Amino acid sequence: MFVPDHEKTRKLLEITDKGTKREIIEAINCENFGLSEFAASLSPLIDNEILKIIAGRSAQLTRKRFGRAISLYIPLYYDNRCTNSCVYCGFNCRNEMERTSLSYEEIIKEAEIIRNKNFKNILLVAGEHPESADIDFLVPVIRKLHELDFTCVSIEIAPLEEEQYRTLVKDAHLDGLYVYQETYNRDIYASVHPAGKKSDYNWRLATAERAAKAGVPKIGTGFLLGLGDFREEAVNLAQHLSYLQKHHWQSEYSISFPRIRNAKGMDENFSRVSDIDFIKLVCSLRLLFHETGMSLSTRETPQFRDAVIPLGFTSLSAGSLTVPGGYSSRRSKDFELLEQFQVEDNRTPEEIASVLSQNGFDPVWKDWQ
Ligand code: SF4
Repeated sequence: MFVPDHEKTRKLLEITDKGTKREIIEAINCENFGLSEFAASLSPLIDNEILKIIAGRSAQLTRKRFGRAISLYIPLYYDNRCTNSCVYCGFNCRNEMERTSLSYEEIIKEAEIIRNKNFKNILLVAGEHPESADIDFLVPVIRKLHELDFTCVSIEIAPLEEEQYRTLVKDAHLDGLYVYQETYNRDIYASVHPAGKKSDYNWRLATAERAAKAGVPKIGTGFLLGLGDFREEAVNLAQHLSYLQKHHWQSEYSISFPRIRNAKGMDENFSRVSDIDFIKLVCSLRLLFHETGMSLSTRETPQFRDAVIPLGFTSLSAGSLTVPGGYSSRRSKDFELLEQFQVEDNRTPEEIASVLSQNGFDPVWKDWQ
């Protein structure tokens, strides 16, 4: 099982902090760009001039490996009940809010609306609750989504046992799983996950590995930007991803970059990862992982998304609503109170696809098969 080597991370960042600008540029241009060079490319010494070099290389590597295709996907929230109390999330069980759990029929109704928007790539999302993660409930849902012609069906729900992932792959052809560690720092992890199953750091950390062993074809990784020091988190994520790619190479991995957004009941003062640090992180990860997909969510503003897409991204969520049943219901004035987090890019999927085309990209509605 993967265990983050915090001592190694600390040393790498310490060495980087003592480096000069010239050493950082040498590291970035190094032919064998590895973990030390990656740590250097996150240095606070990086100014606009160096960032331009990193961004240029990142964009170039992305086009070389992925061409100009950008895959579009949409989340379908089907249950906002949750037994956890993550202090950064609107679905936190301590929040008094209307809880909705869609039935099989209601999920399919939402999916049909989504299909009519052209999407073939769908992500089922739910708070962590035993009923929303019940395999007997999920298998027929995922099967039906495939029958509706969705070519890629992924889940972002409570972490499951290896055998449960195996059943979802075997009986329903589950295509993908998204699971973020949120933070690799154990102390911060404990403070922001005070109760519920999610407070078990090791259980969550091993989720990607359980899914990979069970044969889940695509696994999305990442951390929540704003909880811990972003450089430490990045080096730990890089170690985690390298481990998964080395030991469980049969699965294909991707990275997402969720930045903390305001949510109902959020009472912590989280530090915001700046736009510059966000770009630094995306581009440095691309320099380290040439073949790994990178995903950008609607948590970011339209202007920011349009500006950073060319730097390394390969997939985008579009038209997202984070309320169960949101696509088939009319928006009420209390709609925002039911969201998991505030969506910033409210453009329609067609508008986003059109902007991508205008900027020379090929919007792809179905994922790679
Ligand atoms: S982040 Fe997930 S587990 Fe935590 S409160 Fe929100 S829905 Fe529940």
